Amino acid sequence: MRKAAAQHLLLVEDNAGDARLLREMFNEAGAIPVRLTHVQSMSDAEQHLVGHNVDIILLDLGLPDAQGLGAVRRARAAAPRIPLVVLTGLDDESLAGQALQEGAQDYLIKGQIETRSLQRAVRYAIERNVMEAALLVERERAQVTTLEMTHSAQHDFLTGLPNRMLLNDRIRQAIQFAPRHKKFLAVLFLDLDGFKHINDSLGHAVGDKLLQSIARRLVECVRASDTVSRQGGDEFVVLLSEVDRPEDAAVTAKRMLDAVSETHTVGRHELHITTSIGVSVYPDDGLDAETLIKNADTAMYQAKEGGRQSFRFFKPAMNVRAVERQSIEEDLRRALEHEEFALYYQPKINLDSGKIIGAEALIRWRHPTRGLVSPAQFIPVAEDSGLILPIGKWVLHEACRQAKAWVDGDLPRTTMAVNVSAMEFRDEGFLHGVLDVLGETELDPTLLELEMTESVLIKYVESTATILQALKARGVRVAVDDFGTGYSSLSYLRKFPVDSLKIDQSFVRQISTGGDDTAIVIAVINMARSLKLRVVAEGVETFEELAFLQAHECQEAQGYYFSRPVPAQHFARLLETGIAGSVVPVQTTASPRRLYDWTSVV
Ligand code: C2E
Ligand code: MG
Ligand code: MG
Repeated sequence: MRKAAAQHLLLVEDNAGDARLLREMFNEAGAIPVRLTHVQSMSDAEQHLVGHNVDIILLDLGLPDAQGLGAVRRARAAAPRIPLVVLTGLDDESLAGQALQEGAQDYLIKGQIETRSLQRAVRYAIERNVMEAALLVERERAQVTTLEMTHSAQHDFLTGLPNRMLLNDRIRQAIQFAPRHKKFLAVLFLDLDGFKHINDSLGHAVGDKLLQSIARRLVECVRASDTVSRQGGDEFVVLLSEVDRPEDAAVTAKRMLDAVSETHTVGRHELHITTSIGVSVYPDDGLDAETLIKNADTAMYQAKEGGRQSFRFFKPAMNVRAVERQSIEEDLRRALEHEEFALYYQPKINLDSGKIIGAEALIRWRHPTRGLVSPAQFIPVAEDSGLILPIGKWVLHEACRQAKAWVDGDLPRTTMAVNVSAMEFRDEGFLHGVLDVLGETELDPTLLELEMTESVLIKYVESTATILQALKARGVRVAVDDFGTGYSSLSYLRKFPVDSLKIDQSFVRQISTGGDDTAIVIAVINMARSLKLRVVAEGVETFEELAFLQAHECQEAQGYYFSRPVPAQHFARLLETGIAGSVVPVQTTASPRRLYDWTSVV
């Protein structure tokens, strides 16, 4: 990081065109200052090294008088302490690997060199050399233990963080473990925005302290099993070693953006700095450490270009889901304020009378640019981010308000079913929240039904029972949603005051496709009857399904066959029109004519 005036760079390259290209890259704006000496053969290089203080050697491996590893060995022999970066062709990357073993600091592949990678290779090689020199001094002191030696070889001298070498090792290890544990791993590449300005204006000592402060904060953003490393300069690379879903990396990235941007107090300075982050994910974005880091770097660059203090996933195609979730979450935060949510209502039909006996409130999001977004897309994001709590509250209030308005408008009495997510139900304010809403809207509690999935009910049996009993005492009903898809143990049905079971639509679908699971539908209907629970078939789409359900005495049904979820005014029209009297006696052999024809109404 500490930059001396100009670095003396010795370029050993016999190809004039390549040499000119490299020279131009060093002349570009913002490049690290170098004084470049160009020679065309190894013997010229050896001669030059005798009389000059060279800071770094850039060595082509195809010289007229020295090739391949021979060239590396001669350069090392002539200048054992001077950092060496070799230039190889695309087809000899394995040679590059060997060159590293022979003591080269880094390699660049001809034809793929860009200003940034060139600059970085040179900068890091010089930095590492400074570190190695310091190490040598230490080693010569002889008292240091081997352990300390290893530590300093693997850690950054300024921040004490793991260095590039150790990071690469850790990534390799993580790659071995990740598939076994069915996990992803993510690499985050961070580059500070405008750090150079601070360094130039306040000096290196302040810059160093700032880097140390940032390093500490980054470490606080991750788990102990993750690795925060400093690459050199103002670049950090973070390995998240066991990630359940790629989008979890976004959470960490965001945390890091926030942590870095908070004021840093260095001496009497209050410093403000931001960072840009690129994220790559194993295995989607690369199968080895080098590719993962490179791709995270590319993504970081995109993040910088798109505006600082932000993060980007590499190659959005593979991580569309993560990016999508991210943007949904941001938009969700605004949606409540901007009143972008609406409730649609789907009728529940009594199969004996053909009458609407209830409505299920289903949330809809009218997104300003995406159009109508389905709950399947945004409810999981809302659950993960905690936004489901305010959203759920709004849904409950709006549904109860609407139900009360229908009662007041003298429409037939119908129950109002509201879906409740696990997080809402587990929130300590849940019960009071429900009772408050009932109080505020003055809805008869017996008209409210809460729909919860089995998994929500089963989790904490004791507290669930207490809450459900309190609701029951007020007359609020409880339905088990998507019944059959969750737990097989049914003992909870006896423990909890549940009123009805909603057979999941995947079982109903089996009826018309002739699948094996029709037996389940029959079993659920019979079981519900013996437990004195109401049973509702979800997702009824065809006459055949309806006829089957009626034949097996299923009491209630819901589905596109009767009506899709519709806006409140439409639902009111359905209630007004009613369909009493249109019920046709059950005849499974009857010609497939519609029992209820709703199309004219909706
Ligand atoms: P759910 O509670 O099981 O709701 C039934 C879903 O099936 C609804 O999807 C409904 O539109 C759809 N559906 C109804 N009849 C048919 C049919 O005949 N065929 C087919 N293929 N589908 C039918 P929707 O509205 O997209 O909601 C999906 C899920 O999102 C809901 O499943 C519920 O779990 C959740 N959800 C919806 N609104 C809310 C809400 O306000 N709060 C919470 N926490 N979750 C909600
Ligand atoms: Mg439901
Ligand atoms: Mg359902």
